[in-house]
Amino acid sequence: MAERLSTQLGMRCLVVDKRNHIGGNAFDHYDSHGVLIHTYGPHYFRTNSPRIREYLSQFTKWHAVDYKILSHTDGRYWNFPINLNTFEQLIGRVSTTAEMEAWLAEKRVAIENPTNSEEVIISQVGWELYEKFFKGYTLKQWRRHPRDLDASVCGRIPIRTNRDDRYLSDNFQAVPKHGYTKLFENMIRACGDNLEVRLNTSYRDILPHVKFQHLVFTGPIDEFFDFQLGRLPYRSLRFEAESFTPEALASMAPQRAQATFPVPPQHYQPAMQVNYPGKEPFTRIVEIKHATGQNCSNTTIVREYPDDFGPGKEPYYPIPAPDSSALYQKYKALADEVSLKSAKYLPKNCGCTSISFIGRLATYRYYNMDQVVAMALKEFDKFCLSK
Ligand code: UDP
Repeated sequence: MAERLSTQLGMRCLVVDKRNHIGGNAFDHYDSHGVLIHTYGPHYFRTNSPRIREYLSQFTKWHAVDYKILSHTDGRYWNFPINLNTFEQLIGRVSTTAEMEAWLAEKRVAIENPTNSEEVIISQVGWELYEKFFKGYTLKQWRRHPRDLDASVCGRIPIRTNRDDRYLSDNFQAVPKHGYTKLFENMIRACGDNLEVRLNTSYRDILPHVKFQHLVFTGPIDEFFDFQLGRLPYRSLRFEAESFTPEALASMAPQRAQATFPVPPQHYQPAMQVNYPGKEPFTRIVEIKHATGQNCSNTTIVREYPDDFGPGKEPYYPIPAPDSSALYQKYKALADEVSLKSAKYLPKNCGCTSISFIGRLATYRYYNMDQVVAMALKEFDKFCLSK
């Protein structure tokens, strides 16, 4: 929004972030071992929208990746998301799409309109694969039963009967060639003197001291309204990084060598992400070097531990479920009123006449990066029309 407003309309923008860096959760950095890692968990950019791709391509070149992941359960790796290779691993021999489809047809539970995450999976693959790959992971990740989560949560994961083993289905899949932080730095540079960035700053602390016409709020919507309708639930995460030198990797080589899932040189695991739906306390291990293609002899993996949200924790995920959506709708009604009339929640003399609520937290939606970019571009168009 700041890039559009300042470069297209010549408006002066102030970007305020509590953190000590730009880029929000898409921020990436080189760790002390020289490995580029995604600080707040893996960000796999993908989109079907030429508009979004073209917009971001002004600020970065791309490193194309077919994102591929594995699942690890019952003591072995599995191709994931479920596809013909996974089916062959399950039955222990070569198979065909026709055979897999016939097998699934027998296992599927007939549910016409799945309304929750359990139904959406059992209606596609039946109980066995649901229990193997989805139930445990989802319980860990959300601390909720899949039955108590919208169908859209597990419904994000494709299920295929061919050999397409990509994690995602969008036609453009790539990470910024020099990382996300560089992308944002280029965006900021494009704004020239029209943009000021203030880090380590809470917007609330500076509100009484700045005059502005429009506010773009990207934080949690319940926090904006002082939790007056109650607290929205979020899920948090804890990231645990571990780095390996070439010597450390070499000493592990014998136990890691596997013909079916070979580990490339200078890497720890066979894929950029391995999911753990079993008893392990973490949900996945990400080795982002597979995706960035960085040529570096060290490597870093990050284990992701799901965590309850609370004081001092980051609200990474809104929880898509009927109860939380009902509460969000009440906040949204407040936001709709405030966006137009503004001011009730801002200092009287700040000059603000309108507010935009943008992003995962401000709209309480489990959005991917491209969807958030689309939301911002749409909001900018709306802003232009209103002027
Ligand atoms: N999921 C699962 N098993 C897996 C991967 C995903 O049950 O191996 C479910 C889980 O509920 C997860 C959701 O599908 O939260 C969405 O997965 P995705 O990988 O898109 O999650 P994200 O990368 O957004 O955390």
